[in-house]
This record gives sequence, structure tokens and C-alpha cells, in this order.
Amino acid sequence: MTAALDQGIADEIAARRDDLVSLTRDLIRIPTLNPPGLNYLEICEYLADRLGRAGFRVDLIRAEGARGDSAAHPRWNLVARHEGAGSGECVHFNSHHDVVAVGHGWTRDPFGAEVEGDRIYGRGACDMKGGLAASVIAVEAFIAACPGYRGAIEISATADEESGGFGGVAHLAEQGWFAPERVQHVIIPEPLHKDRICLGHRGVWWAEIETMGRIAHGSMPFLGDSAVRHMGAVLAEMEATLFPLLATKRTSMPVIPEGARQSTLNINSIHGGEAEQDEGYTGLPAPCVPDRCRIVIDRRFLIEEDLAEVKREVGAMLERVKAVRPGFAYEIRDLFEVQPTMTDEDAPIARSTAAAIERVLGRRAAFVVSPGTYDQKHIDRIGRLRNCIAYGPGILDLAHQPDEWVSIGDMADAAQVMALVLAELMAPPA
Ligand SMILES: [Zn+2]
Repeated sequence: MTAALDQGIADEIAARRDDLVSLTRDLIRIPTLNPPGLNYLEICEYLADRLGRAGFRVDLIRAEGARGDSAAHPRWNLVARHEGAGSGECVHFNSHHDVVAVGHGWTRDPFGAEVEGDRIYGRGACDMKGGLAASVIAVEAFIAACPGYRGAIEISATADEESGGFGGVAHLAEQGWFAPERVQHVIIPEPLHKDRICLGHRGVWWAEIETMGRIAHGSMPFLGDSAVRHMGAVLAEMEATLFPLLATKRTSMPVIPEGARQSTLNINSIHGGEAEQDEGYTGLPAPCVPDRCRIVIDRRFLIEEDLAEVKREVGAMLERVKAVRPGFAYEIRDLFEVQPTMTDEDAPIARSTAAAIERVLGRRAAFVVSPGTYDQKHIDRIGRLRNCIAYGPGILDLAHQPDEWVSIGDMADAAQVMALVLAELMAPPA
């Protein structure tokens, strides 16, 4: 790439700084809360209007019938495509447009998009409307600086990442939008920070374990069989054998934070016995021996592990309890699973992004892996596209927190990195 193009891109990004701020603020002011999935059409139409005026062909796609989609809360997605002057590969920027619940503890208006100094505040500022805005500015600046580019550039804004992405990227991937013959490079501008490249994520297995007992009067528990005590035995066995086993399983994936460089298991919930009553209920509980107890486990596994083996470990633990505990009966049900994925550090999109980070920030990019999953899982498994990374501005720790914010300077730097990636992959030979 030429120094002139480098400078041209830097100038175009700098000239768009106010636009970057106002675009980010506009996006934050559209409260795309998920659940239940509010204002999805509104945010897609806002982007369609802007990108349509910038010369993109725009498709609005409803994930009709997908998990979460309903007449009251339709799952709308946007894909915008800009064709270059010659044939070549397609670089796709995918951002989710949904945000999580506001929660408590805010000192700012969560949808006011207040600006103070270098920061823009609001729900979704960091995760990930700041990244979406940075990618839009990056693409517009690149097209202005390099109108003769080869290939095509796509920007998508997709639904429901925060609830699994079934009405968003999964649906688009099923419809062929990420097929390797139409898209060759994907950047997901999640808030991993402007100097880090996220190559993938660990795997996930959620399951529900239920223990069974027999109901009886609480004054004569010996006439029943307590499912809660049975579950207590399961938890004790877990502490004694399963957690120590998981701690020995280490990964070579560069997961951040470091504590997640091993297998982990969270007990997401526990429910046993009488159901909780509504808030207004003033009566006492009835004395009963609990005949059912359920836990939901959230097991995160490593690229070195096999999902069938992960399931066998938990099954073996339950069988150990059964072997020593009279009357012990259980069921286990799969709820959700995601395979781990990791793009190669030498994949074209990872290499180009690392080089651009070094040029813009003057330091080496760090390659990381996310402890939790994001929409890359669908692009990998359904779309069969491996050349995919997450790269975007924002500090991951602020995601989903009160007073979430994004730095304007970081967004501008990340936009410049993204534009330089486009230049490396698409600029015509000088
Ligand atoms: Zn996100």
C-alpha cells in the first residue's frame, strides 16, 4: 500500500470525527433492548437510509420463524453491500444491534448518549454500537480515499447476539449470506479493545440435571425422599472430584482473562421443592418434602477437549453418586451447545489487522480468545467461513455494566485500523 493512500485514509477518518460521534449517539438513542427485542426495524431503517445514500445496496431481512421472532417483536437484520470498481474479495463487518437490559446503578441517562470529554455514555455504547459506528466510518472513509478499490464491502447489523443470535447471524448464515463464495473476510467489531485481535472462543455446554424424590408431609420426612438432599450429594461430589479435575485441564488458546485458560463450570441456578410465590403472597409455605430438584450447569470447554468426553465426565460423576446413595435417581437434559472455534493467526484477515494495528498504534497487536461465545460461532459452523476475527474499540469489562461508555479516540483509531485493513486487501496495485 502506498504512503499516499495511508495518509488519504488518515485524513478522511479525521474529517469524519464529528460524524463518528453523532452516528454513535444516534445509534445509542434507539433503545434496541433485548429481551424482548425492541426497535430492531427502527435501527435497521436508520442505517439503511444512511448507507443507501452512501451508495450501498441494502437488504432488510426479517428472521421470520426464528427463535425469538414474533409479530410483536420481529427480528430485523440489515445487510448493506458496496461494489468496488473491479472484481475481488468481499470484506464483511458484522455488528449486533441489540443491547442488554439497563439494570441498576446508572448515574447517566442510559439512552441519552451523553458526551463528556472523550467519552460517550449509554447502554450499548461499548457493546457494540461504538464498534458498529467505527466500522461504518471506516468503510465510508476508505471508499472516499480509494474509489478504485477491487471487490465488495458489506456491513451488517444483526439481531439477538445477546440471546444466542438465532434471529440474527444464525439466520443470515442459514440463508447463505456468509457462504464462502460470497464473503471471504469477516470482522466483528465487538469491544475487545483497539490493540487486540480476538481469534475465537471456548466451547459451551449447558445442561439441566434433575434429581427425583417422593413428596411427603414435612413433619414426617422419613416417609418421603428429599430430592434436595440428593442434589446436595451431587454438589458435594462435584466439589470433591469434578472441579479439581477441570482445574487440571489447561488450554493453549490465548484466552483472556487468564483465569479462563482452563475448563470451567458454573452452576447457573438451583430450584427445588415448592415454587416461589408471587410477591403479593402473604401466606406461609406448606410443609412438604421436595420431590424434584434441578440445577442448570454451564460448562465451558477448550479446543483441546471433545464435547462427548465433556458430557461423559458429568455422567460419570452422577453415576458415582448413584453407586453409593440408596434411592438416588436423576435425569440430565442437554440445553445448548457450541463448539470452540479459533481462527489461525496467519489467516489473511488476522494478519492484515495485526499489520494495521502496528501502523496506527505503533505497537504489536495481541492475539486473544474470548472466554464466552459471540456470533463467530454461527459464521464458522453454519457459514463454514474460518477467516473471521473480532476486532473493535471499547473496553470489554464495561460491557453490560452501568454507565457503559466508549472512547471517541479509541473509535477513531479502530476505524483507521479497519480502513487500513480494507486498503491492504482491496486497494488496486499502485
Ligand atoms: Zn456484543
